[in-house]
Amino acid sequence: MTNNRKKNFFAGPSVLPIEVLQELEREIGEYNNEGLSIIEASHRDQPFTDMYFETLDLVKELLNINDNYDILFLGGGATLQFSMAPLNYLKPNTVADYIKSGTWSNKAASDAAKIGDINIYFDGSESNYSTLPDPKSVRASENSSYLYLCSNETTGGIAWQDFPNLKETPLIADMSSDILSRPVDVSKFALIFAGVQKNLGPAGATLVILNKDMYERQNKSLPTYLNYYSHTKTGGLTNTPPIFSIWTVKLVLQWIKANGGAEGMAKRASLKSTMLYDTIDGSGGFYISPVDKRYRSKMNVVFKLPSEELEKEFVAMSKEANMVGLNGHRSVGGLRASIYNSLPVEDVKALSDFMNEFKRIKG
Ligand code: PMP
Repeated sequence: MTNNRKKNFFAGPSVLPIEVLQELEREIGEYNNEGLSIIEASHRDQPFTDMYFETLDLVKELLNINDNYDILFLGGGATLQFSMAPLNYLKPNTVADYIKSGTWSNKAASDAAKIGDINIYFDGSESNYSTLPDPKSVRASENSSYLYLCSNETTGGIAWQDFPNLKETPLIADMSSDILSRPVDVSKFALIFAGVQKNLGPAGATLVILNKDMYERQNKSLPTYLNYYSHTKTGGLTNTPPIFSIWTVKLVLQWIKANGGAEGMAKRASLKSTMLYDTIDGSGGFYISPVDKRYRSKMNVVFKLPSEELEKEFVAMSKEANMVGLNGHRSVGGLRASIYNSLPVEDVKALSDFMNEFKRIKG
């Protein structure tokens, strides 16, 4: 398995630690000497429930989450949360404040607008999604049910380095593409969600971290699956959970823990992203980052070349060099290197060397 692994820059689903894949391979047929695989066992039975509670404990430990939060693994992707959040918390005669910073917060705002009234607090389209508001300046509307942001825009490569401090208004964040890449003060947030298929595991589960105080604000008349409270009442086991995905998340969390936890991941992310941004900034304008330097993502490094032809050549040659996933998102073009937690530092070094060599030949 280790011999010809590609250098994987996909934006999600994305690279997993080799140690995790090896463990899955070892245990997929028979889990923990139980005489069956965990994906063949009932989610009401002990092999699953033990593993599940261990996973929840690891999430709490690694993100330093206090007991006033519930943790769930739901289906439907992060996309379902775009509507679940407003269905549960956007009250009649109030607004929800949305910060539109790119593809993913725009989708969330557009779903919320189908459910209730929203206020666009910040519209990144005016700067072509290259910058964000100063977190210290962010204030929610007077009649706001919550303020919503996306911590890291996977498509545009723009990230909040710090978050607004809202006194009264609940803060909701989509952290799909930077969860556990750095320490975060979870107590600032009413609700955090993250599709696990970037930093935490394979597609199939969405991690939801919910402050218990939010249940008071809850819309009570929702169908079971769409109602956060029905999930927490049953310990997250209202229906059959995405078992394979959760199991893999557990292994990834163990890997994160063994590699220094959130602080360790933050160091890795700084090291890797600095390598690429230095290469871009030192290229004399051959590579260009379109993002305000203050808000550059450490997970998705977006850059452009002088022409689309060169970008196509770059992608083709990078494939020959055993690198995959470097195309920009289909909606914006350009190039993007997603360098999530599990991507080895050497692979990013190899990309930086490749970029320098490509510039030498073509620049
Ligand atoms: N939010 C962000 C920041 C994302 O990057 C993505 C997927 N790329 C989504 C939400 C949607 O996730 P899903 O495909 O799990 O619905």
